[in-house]
Amino acid sequence: MMKHMALLIAVTLTDVIPSYAAPVKVAAALPDIGSIASYIGGDKVEVFSIGKNNSNPHAVEVIPSYMIKVSRAAIYLKVGLALDQWSDAIIDGARSSSLLTADCSNGISPLQKPTGKMDASMGDIHPDGNPHYWLDPANGIIIANNVTVALKKADPSNSLYYDKNYEHFKEDAGKHIADWKSRLAKISGQKVITYHSSWIYLTTAFNLAIAGTVEPWPGIPPTAKHLAELVEIIKRDAISILLQESYFPDDAPKFLARQTGIKIFKFSPSCTDVKSDSYFRHFE
Ligand SMILES: [Zn+2]
Repeated sequence: MMKHMALLIAVTLTDVIPSYAAPVKVAAALPDIGSIASYIGGDKVEVFSIGKNNSNPHAVEVIPSYMIKVSRAAIYLKVGLALDQWSDAIIDGARSSSLLTADCSNGISPLQKPTGKMDASMGDIHPDGNPHYWLDPANGIIIANNVTVALKKADPSNSLYYDKNYEHFKEDAGKHIADWKSRLAKISGQKVITYHSSWIYLTTAFNLAIAGTVEPWPGIPPTAKHLAELVEIIKRDAISILLQESYFPDDAPKFLARQTGIKIFKFSPSCTDVKSDSYFRHFE
């Protein structure tokens, strides 16, 4: 009797629960993609990011706790363009047959796609082009589209809701881009130096030119000879801005600053967290 009563209560409870549908769990490779997923998914999703804003997105450590977290997710949002091979390792380790994987680089026009022959001396050159595409806010719209497609696949009953948020995102992005372009117009055409090649999408979007990188090749630390060449370039072109990713060592930028007076601006290429306003706030 008690067993039947328990069963009856259980059945009644599950009948009540569906009106509070559980949020769709979304794993994002980086906070930038996670923030866009929060924007599109609103209160229908629960988003977490594997990569952190202050760590190198090329070198995320694959640890078992990530795999466990991802095994409970419905969607995994990859960066793609060969940046996050660690995502593939995490997805494999999660061993979830129901996990839907989406590559957010779908539809992006990659910059710096190598044309000639590549070899190991060229460092972390990616065959598909530079993978730091989220730093062009116009590419944010393409990411948002990929996220929307994935959410609609995983949770078709809320398709209209996701579509509506995608339309808002496009509108929001358009307004922000116009504002940022007008504010950056005064430094349009200026040359800058960057540490790693993380910023090419940002500088291209806002009409700045990268005159050199502290790393001679992506992922390869600078040599004395390379730094001496940079000193010459900075002096010759009177370059005043050096963009440094926050997770790289300070010695080479400080050396260049001492030699030339160039100002160091340290930023993370990723936004702070997966909150829905984080992606746009990062550009501010
Ligand atoms: Zn890179």
